[in-house]
Amino acid sequence: MMENIFNFTDELGPAKVIHVFEPSVGLKAVLVVDNVAAGPAIGGVRMATDVTTEECLRLARAMTLKNAAAGLPHGGGKIVLYGDPRMPRGDKERLIRTLAGSLRTAEEYIFAPDMGTDEECMAWIKDEIGRVVGLPRELGGIPLDEIGATGFGLTQVAEVATGYCDFDVPGARLVVQGFGAVGKHAAKFLTDQGAVLVGVADSRGTIEDPDGLDVDRLIELKGFGKSVTDHDAGRSLAPDAVVDIECDIWIPAARPDVIHGGNVDRLNTRLVLEGANIPLTMEAEQSLHARGVLCIPDFIANAGGVICAAMEYRGASESAVFAAIEEKLRRNSEQVLLKTKIDDLTPRKAAAELSIDRVKKTMDLRRWSLFPSAPWSR
Ligand code: NAD
Repeated sequence: MMENIFNFTDELGPAKVIHVFEPSVGLKAVLVVDNVAAGPAIGGVRMATDVTTEECLRLARAMTLKNAAAGLPHGGGKIVLYGDPRMPRGDKERLIRTLAGSLRTAEEYIFAPDMGTDEECMAWIKDEIGRVVGLPRELGGIPLDEIGATGFGLTQVAEVATGYCDFDVPGARLVVQGFGAVGKHAAKFLTDQGAVLVGVADSRGTIEDPDGLDVDRLIELKGFGKSVTDHDAGRSLAPDAVVDIECDIWIPAARPDVIHGGNVDRLNTRLVLEGANIPLTMEAEQSLHARGVLCIPDFIANAGGVICAAMEYRGASESAVFAAIEEKLRRNSEQVLLKTKIDDLTPRKAAAELSIDRVKKTMDLRRWSLFPSAPWSR
């Protein structure tokens, strides 16, 4: 239970918290517009039956930092929508359309998909009010999971970060936890650069092979609805065994908090790239830092997806999206790693300081620090 919403305000935001309620269709939602000094907020609509305003506040702030880190002209925001995302399609459509209509005038927020919402939901929002990213290809969308925007971004970050770990991507041993949109593309792009995939896990199990696994075959198996453990090479293990496989690069691309105080000592790697959101607890990140294992935080490493979304909003082509991800993520990782080294900080702390500094600079350029005097624009 949240006692006092003002306890959640600090020097950056949130600028607006809007509670939406329409009993006739059972609509209950909260929009948090965190910081919009750089431009209208981009952040997804999360639909679930256990969402809270507090979660929405934290996720909106995470988007402020991620968008600032990526150098996008967008602030951070988020919507939580109460409901079971697997409800009948007609009910879901009515709910989403009502949500969009109820926030028609909240021009400082651009809708995007998150857990429980997809391209189809974004198409309904487009039809109602137009201010949305993550659309189907037929409506000018760039399907970021299909093209592997986040996995491609992780590869760019890997190439910069390995320079700080004294090894190169070609020949590096790679382990990936989670073989969905993020994990499979990270594995594909990195092995194309010469890395060797020695272990991978999905929710059903882990497969390990020190000589290297066939990524195309694994992607094919997943396409047939099978598990990575159905691969006829290597050794099949339990899902959790992916933590123990010795490697140079370990990528969590599944669930939050998978590495924590209780298992961080089992990780035997030199570089962790956080593909998932909050896959490591703060305690685990600190512990890795103390051991000299470089850990690139989520809001730096997995920003490829939101860069793609921001480019889609401006009508960019797919090739321009890949170029922007490469340029922004390489420059940003370089800055973060340099600051980490010079100021002797954890990468997360260095990245947060850089992002907050950027947000404050954009606030200095506003008359009111957050809201613009001119109308909201792209
Ligand atoms: P996804 O649903 O496509 O894939 C998730 C994968 O994780 C699946 O292969 C699933 O089998 C596996 N998995 C689930 N539980 C597991 C377990 N206990 N052990 C091993 N594997 C397990 O999801 P996704 O889009 O790839 O997203 C993965 C994570 O990355 C999420 O935390 C998401 O929020 C984050 N993220 C995604 C994007 C994006 O572009 N899709 C961008 C930024 C962050």
